[in-house]
Amino acid sequence: MKILVTVKRVVDYNVKVRVKSDGSGVDIANVKMSMNPFDEIAVEEAVRLKEAGVATEVVAVSCGATQCQETLRTALAIGADRGILVESTEELQPLAVAKILKALVDKEQPQLVILGKQAIDNDSNQTGQMLAALAGLPQATFASKVVVADGKATVSREVDGGAETLSLKLPAVVTTDLRLNEPRYVTLPNIMKAKKKPLETLKPADLGVDVAPRLKTVKVAEPPKRSAGVMVPDVKALVEKLRNEAKVL
Ligand code: AMP
Repeated sequence: MKILVTVKRVVDYNVKVRVKSDGSGVDIANVKMSMNPFDEIAVEEAVRLKEAGVATEVVAVSCGATQCQETLRTALAIGADRGILVESTEELQPLAVAKILKALVDKEQPQLVILGKQAIDNDSNQTGQMLAALAGLPQATFASKVVVADGKATVSREVDGGAETLSLKLPAVVTTDLRLNEPRYVTLPNIMKAKKKPLETLKPADLGVDVAPRLKTVKVAEPPKRSAGVMVPDVKALVEKLRNEAKVL
């Protein structure tokens, strides 16, 4: 069984991004970039399925600039077998990525596609769902447990007020939630081994995909600054302020 797993190169989650002065976006020049955290979980899950003898090959895919090769090398160091970079200098919006992935699903015929539930740079939470729709595949989003057996994936997902369990006929699309697993640390010997693993580069046009953006960002702004708080001496003063100043009582 082949698993396709997606890895997006995003601003590292520890970086506090700054909004550009013209409000056109955030400044990502010279900031640390890393694999999207939900995608680390996706790669870990795919590799665990291979280690358990359920999967036979794990193929990692990244779409974007040449530097996404580094992200793919990290996926290969975690344990993926080969990488595919779909290289583009254009801004790739979720629909464009989903179309690219659909073309790769047609080409590679994986039984399972595992994506992160959300990219932490755009917070879209769209790509997995769009891919499932375009490819006509069943989907289970926000997975907190995945069991694959007998041509089916049984997926637990956290929903409001409890846990839901879905059974999907393979091939299927799964997106990862935080509690699915804890990704391993990448070791130096595995980083060295990853350098020798195959990495193919394609262009969106090779897959017949038009990646032209469909959305336009109108404005990006910092959240309003919070004004300083005040200490109140006792509950009476607090109630008085809530009633007369904040007028919420
Ligand atoms: P999003 O819909 O943008 O929040 O992204 C959801 C998931 O889709 C991510 O966690 C990735 O697994 C995948 N994805 C989105 N964009 C890319 C990309 N450019 N390259 C590879 N995977 C991506």
